Amino acid sequence: MYNVKSKNAEEFIDDNEINETLDYAKKNKSNKPLINEIIEKAKELKGLSHRDAAVLLECDLDEENEKIFSLAKEIKQKFYGNRIVMFAPLYLSNYCVNGCTYCPYHAKNKHISRKKLTQEDIKKEVIALQDLGHKRLALEAGEDPVNNPIEYILECIKTIYSIKHKNGAIRRVNVNIAATTVENYKKLKDAGIGTYILFQETYNKKSYETLHPTGPKSNYAYHTEAMDRAMQGGIDDVGIGVLFGLNMYKYDFVGLLMHAEHLEAAMGVGPHTISVPRLRQADDIDPNEFNNGIDDDTFAKIVACLRIAVPYTGMIISTRESAECRKKVLNLGISQISGGSRTSVGGYAQPESKDDNSAQFDISDNRTLDEVVNWLIDLGYIPSFCTACYREGRTGDRFMSLVKSGQIANCCQPNAIMTLKEYLEDYAQNDTKLKGEELIKKELNSIPNEKVKKIVIDNLKNIENGKRDFRL
Ligand code: SAM
Repeated sequence: MYNVKSKNAEEFIDDNEINETLDYAKKNKSNKPLINEIIEKAKELKGLSHRDAAVLLECDLDEENEKIFSLAKEIKQKFYGNRIVMFAPLYLSNYCVNGCTYCPYHAKNKHISRKKLTQEDIKKEVIALQDLGHKRLALEAGEDPVNNPIEYILECIKTIYSIKHKNGAIRRVNVNIAATTVENYKKLKDAGIGTYILFQETYNKKSYETLHPTGPKSNYAYHTEAMDRAMQGGIDDVGIGVLFGLNMYKYDFVGLLMHAEHLEAAMGVGPHTISVPRLRQADDIDPNEFNNGIDDDTFAKIVACLRIAVPYTGMIISTRESAECRKKVLNLGISQISGGSRTSVGGYAQPESKDDNSAQFDISDNRTLDEVVNWLIDLGYIPSFCTACYREGRTGDRFMSLVKSGQIANCCQPNAIMTLKEYLEDYAQNDTKLKGEELIKKELNSIPNEKVKKIVIDNLKNIENGKRDFRL
């Protein structure tokens, strides 16, 4: 029986409820009055239920689809403005005991190079990342209690935060590691992580079990209930996602929203971010064997419907997607993107050769961080290296209530401007610097509060004079 507040995975992600939702959505895909009613409801900016959102995803009316896309753009503009937060993944270790059929780290893959960073290696990686201009990382690791125990992850986090090189610093470490215990989540919280990220891959229990035949990750309930444990352990910013391409996307779209509804109902705060990765080619992995791939237009519709359904949740897209595809979904709701990423273990300090491959998947967007920053500015976005909210304690429900009241915009814009200025001073190529300075001049005028504007102008001078790390 479906129960949004239940602690039991199969009750808060109830298969019947998803199938009934999909039937309802299909029946109403051309129901103009209902679709317009849902769009009107969405305009109140309070989000939509998984049932309503499923109808919008299924909608096959051209005019209404236009309305859906333009509402997604409007919501994105209202809550996130033209800021795009930048991050990079850092792969710590690709040792893994699981048998995930779509991931090259699966234990049976004997031709991938297995690597694990030492603390010395991490220093080199972090210095290389700092020299690119990154301030925010997402740590990635395979699941292996012997090679990558929680103590190893904690030690890595400590090392990463401790490295100060020139004007560089990693100010926020998000963590994407396997589902674990409440006790371990407490330790991650104490180590000062930002968001705990864990992708569900698919919410369909049957598919999940086929895709994860062996290893600890094969336990559907343990994996699906991980965010409840993370929140119980004190982590109030969690990031969810599915790997599109593994299972029927409509099912997982509904599952994702039911998960978000569950976290809000049972734990008092919804997910901080939603990621929308798509399955990619990788060593030993051919995405075409999975039969559930989605084209770019469907992908854009998913992003737009998620934006409308959960307006306060950040949305992340990685370099799995091409520049062209990223451009298409940026204004539909994406608020964070990675740039200059390496998915190999140790790949920032030492790019890998073809025959020494430890990478998790092939990257589509191979541009450098500076090229991505330059491109974002050309597209009218402010690339932001801001990490202020979490460092000011604006996490969990405090963050959510600020976003919901629209207040977050009063500090995000200035923080984006100031952190972009740091990037321009320390890391940008000439052309990016010229364009960035012009953008900052323009964006200063859009700060309505004169007091705040004066603080920002003073801090921009301070940054030119060598001072760093200002935030509101
Ligand atoms: N080992 C942890 C786990 O299993 O959750 C953490 C991270 S894993 C390194 C990060 C994510 O990469 C996975 O959750 C999965 O969604 C994604 N991934 C795995 N194989 C992929 C592929 N071939 N293409 C795209 N993404 C992939």
